Amino acid sequence: MKLPIFGQSQDEVKELTPPGSLAVNEIFYSLQGEGKYSGYPMVFIRLNICHVGCRFCDTKYSWQTLTHNVYYDAATILAKVKECSEKCNRVCITGGEPFEQAEALLEVCKYLKAHGLKVHIETSGNVLIDKEFREYCHWITCSPKKFYPPNFESPIDEIKFLVVASADLAKIRNWIGTFKRKVWVSIQPIEPNPPEFGNPDGLNEEELIELKVQQINARFAEADVWEKNKNRAVEICLQTGWQLSFQTHKYFRIR
Ligand code: SF4
Repeated sequence: MKLPIFGQSQDEVKELTPPGSLAVNEIFYSLQGEGKYSGYPMVFIRLNICHVGCRFCDTKYSWQTLTHNVYYDAATILAKVKECSEKCNRVCITGGEPFEQAEALLEVCKYLKAHGLKVHIETSGNVLIDKEFREYCHWITCSPKKFYPPNFESPIDEIKFLVVASADLAKIRNWIGTFKRKVWVSIQPIEPNPPEFGNPDGLNEEELIELKVQQINARFAEADVWEKNKNRAVEICLQTGWQLSFQTHKYFRIR
């Protein structure tokens, strides 16, 4: 089923999603950029809706439907995945927050697994994940957000920690020990966002030059922060044996 509707709130989208369908933002074929499966080809299924609202979110366009929203049932999702790649046997369901649509998500996972696909899911961990997902998912990665701790009962496989220079290893260990199952740990330094060199506010030439100078100065300041964050991440991995993770897709300029 395909119903393109734009400009609705997230709650409206939830209400209007037909039973058994998911509110989908985009489906595309690429390489996984982060975490344990970094470098593996996957078909990405980005779902709409996320109520967490992180300031640094780089997929804010999945929070609402101003950019794109379609409702797909499991069979349509499989057909779209096959259109992206006949050979690829992994899908990564990401968001948004996929577990905001848990009921239909479970049905889709069952269907995709039954058709020979390995299902990966990326979550903030904010929503409790039903244990039944374990049976149909190959890998569930939780990337916890600072102000929204994950549910430690959730049956996740991997925890991806974003760290800054002051990251406290004892606290991280404590967190990990709270999970009910053994988890793979990826440590990822927080990266500065690239400057935006557009002119969305219609500035005149002088104002635009001033803005660019400010952005470049900010970039130099961020470079120092980035260096410190990276060093701390490396230190933590050397001490613990955990995996270092980078957003490699950004370096290779792929999605
Ligand atoms: Fe964005 Fe993820 Fe935070 Fe939701 S949880 S706001 S999708 S970074």
